[in-house]
Amino acid sequence: MPIQAPQWTDFKLCPVCQNEFKSGLKPPISLGCGHSICKSCLLRLSKQQCPFDQAEIKNDITKLPVNYALLSLCGGTIPDYFEVEIPELIINRKEFDAARIAIETLAECLQNIVITSSNCNYTSGNGILTRPMQRKIVSILHCQLAEVEGQSRAMRAARSIGERAVKELILMHQSPQTLSTALWAAVRQRGCQFLGPAMQEAVLRLILLSLEDGISLSRKVLVLFVVQRLEKQFTQASKTSIGHVVQLLYRASCFKVE
Ligand SMILES: [Zn+2]
Ligand SMILES: [Zn+2]
Repeated sequence: MPIQAPQWTDFKLCPVCQNEFKSGLKPPISLGCGHSICKSCLLRLSKQQCPFDQAEIKNDITKLPVNYALLSLCGGTIPDYFEVEIPELIINRKEFDAARIAIETLAECLQNIVITSSNCNYTSGNGILTRPMQRKIVSILHCQLAEVEGQSRAMRAARSIGERAVKELILMHQSPQTLSTALWAAVRQRGCQFLGPAMQEAVLRLILLSLEDGISLSRKVLVLFVVQRLEKQFTQASKTSIGHVVQLLYRASCFKVE
């Protein structure tokens, strides 16, 4: 599959100095915009704004709490909060703690995946997490929970993780048999003859093959996959004609893709 692997463990690096976040001088501080920068780089900023998207940093940098969830994934330990000085900008301590504990627990669950990924230099999260899930988890890990902006960002991210989890469950339980029946019925019903019977059959087989193991694919990737496999056998296979069939089957809710 022609998918570019993002370095999923990049979230452990400060995007300014490229060093891994560390307790002491380089703990991660998350900003309202969702970027996390190490404290020493933040203190050196010439303007009170995020260097990546120019979002204004509304609060005093020294008052923003360290993102311990993120730090714990870089080998740091989550302190006992009663021993930590609580930043004064936290208005609702109870809510802040609830959100913080949830995200720190998530980080704890991620520990093994992150460690395995960096040990074997395998960046895809060891196949346990799909890439969209990795992206969503990384985005919730970067929220500044002490600020309103970061709080709503975290809520959106949490919702999106929930939706994604449900979607992946549905994908996982998509049985090949039901799929096959549904595909054939849809094609017959809609009289999709423009490919010719032989090629049509080959296309359906390839679609089934690519969806078999419950991996979530985008429609574009699915079309490319089918076209690449078909080209040798059928010179007339094009992205347009295959795209048409995939679109039709997708509209008929034959299968779930992104
Ligand atoms: Zn830095
Ligand atoms: Zn930013």
